[in-house]
Amino acid sequence: MDTLLEKRLQEASGKKRVYFDHAATTAPADEVIDLVTEILRQHPGNPSSFYREGHQAARILEEARASVASGLGVLPEEIFFTSCGTESDNWAVKGTAHARQGRGRHLITSTIEHHAVLHTMEALEKEGFEVTYLDVDDKGLVEPDQLEKAIRPDTILVSIMMANNEIGTIQPVGRIGEICREANVIFHSDAVQALGAIPVKPRDLNCDLMSFSGHKLYAPKGIGVLFKRKGLRIDRLLDGGAQERRQRGGTENVAYAMAFARACELALKDLDRESKRQTKLRDRLIKGVIEAVPHTKLNGHSELRLPNNANFSFEFIEGESILLLLDTLGYACSSGSACTSASLDPSHVLLGIGMPAEIAHGSLRVTIGRKTSEGEIDRFLIDIPLVIERLRDMSPLYADFRKGKLEALIPPEGGVDVRIDGGYDLV
Ligand code: PLP
Repeated sequence: MDTLLEKRLQEASGKKRVYFDHAATTAPADEVIDLVTEILRQHPGNPSSFYREGHQAARILEEARASVASGLGVLPEEIFFTSCGTESDNWAVKGTAHARQGRGRHLITSTIEHHAVLHTMEALEKEGFEVTYLDVDDKGLVEPDQLEKAIRPDTILVSIMMANNEIGTIQPVGRIGEICREANVIFHSDAVQALGAIPVKPRDLNCDLMSFSGHKLYAPKGIGVLFKRKGLRIDRLLDGGAQERRQRGGTENVAYAMAFARACELALKDLDRESKRQTKLRDRLIKGVIEAVPHTKLNGHSELRLPNNANFSFEFIEGESILLLLDTLGYACSSGSACTSASLDPSHVLLGIGMPAEIAHGSLRVTIGRKTSEGEIDRFLIDIPLVIERLRDMSPLYADFRKGKLEALIPPEGGVDVRIDGGYDLV
């Protein structure tokens, strides 16, 4: 039997693969790779050394710092290079908790943060800190009033991400920053997914600490940045040498610091045009999927959402099987965040927005990027209904639904606003 799906599967091997997992990582830009290669070849010195080669490396490092600072609208001495976004999150949260524990031991975060923050909070709980995990609404938004109520006299830190890596929801960080400033509580925001996608100005957001990662920004993996407001003292995470103004030990990754700076510069130069282009592609994708595949919903907010993110739940099937079939058809997508995709537990973010586990299991994240074309979206819109149809044909749940033994949680048209079990809105 040669169905359309079989035909598409046969054709796929001759076609270019489509990369739809830019929230997991982005391929370094050619210009960035060239710059890294040049620095590694021409400037291998240690920036701490007292001779010409060292001074040259130090000059490049400081140039990179100044460039990142200028892009973020902050001072160069407020920029610290780290090894990744995870280190920046760990340093911000643990460093603040340890430095301020004399004033209180209460921390606030949300249930849908990245594990780099959530697991750090759990580690601090084991040390005796108390953590309040704020619930989010069904679109993934933190409610500022709830935050205000959760702040206590012994609260020392609030950590709320700027944009979610799974469902793309953009938090009201400006308001959150105001609340923290008024309450004299340190505010950290994980902006790993936000930088390069939406405007990010830590000072305008009353943010004291902000984390970034190079590999979400078309720079290599293994470089991150922590913005730390001037005058704020937090404990070190890495003890060692006197690098990074005595606040982070470890010989600096000069080439990758410059890679981060150049990638940031490239992203910011084109931010407005590219984010509009991606938003258009994203909306074409969302509309096309919801219209073509029954019993499907969009997860996250329809407007307060990253320009590159679409996250769907397809009822009656498993995200993993969707990924496998899509992979064979030539697509790289994700069923959750990169860190949870190896586990079969439903994503904590989808459960956090109140989604029943059976729907959360059938979720797919599609994140587009700088090189994504309209043609790739249209190719996907041909393939995805075939994939879902095939998997549903093999699904015992779908068979039960067809026999009338099981009710659908997501209506056929998907885009209707219906409440299930008190709190779960279908978009
Ligand atoms: N925070 C968010 C929101 C992320 O999406 C990621 C990566 O997936 C990280 C932190 C961790 O960054 P890195 O991979 O550079 O450690």
